[in-house]
Amino acid sequence: MRDLCRICKKRPVAINYHKGEKVFYRSKCDHCSKGRKKQRPLWAIAGYKKKSLCDKCGFTSKYIDQFDVFYIDGNPTNCRFNNLKTVCANCQRILHKLKLPWKQGDLTPDF
Ligand SMILES: [Zn+2]
Ligand SMILES: [Zn+2]
Repeated sequence: MRDLCRICKKRPVAINYHKGEKVFYRSKCDHCSKGRKKQRPLWAIAGYKKKSLCDKCGFTSKYIDQFDVFYIDGNPTNCRFNNLKTVCANCQRILHKLKLPWKQGDLTPDF
């Protein structure tokens, strides 16, 4: 008899693996172990797309993973596009460390 999932307490726990005759179970059912999906960030939901260029230092890369979205006012729920900047991993760290609000003067002008 399988235990019931400790989260929903409705479905039986999922099988983890078999070892010989023995079956090892998880503590959650299939449904609940999959439940913790990575949520899409708010800016993605708002329709903002990361650029392949850092808005702060101008670094470009074809690897979009090198960029993060920075909230100018520091409020991660403010997803108006004028509050969002694409920054590279380097600038992201610096901005984080300095805890500086974005300064317009840092922007490279758009030509
Ligand atoms: Zn469950
Ligand atoms: Zn940068």
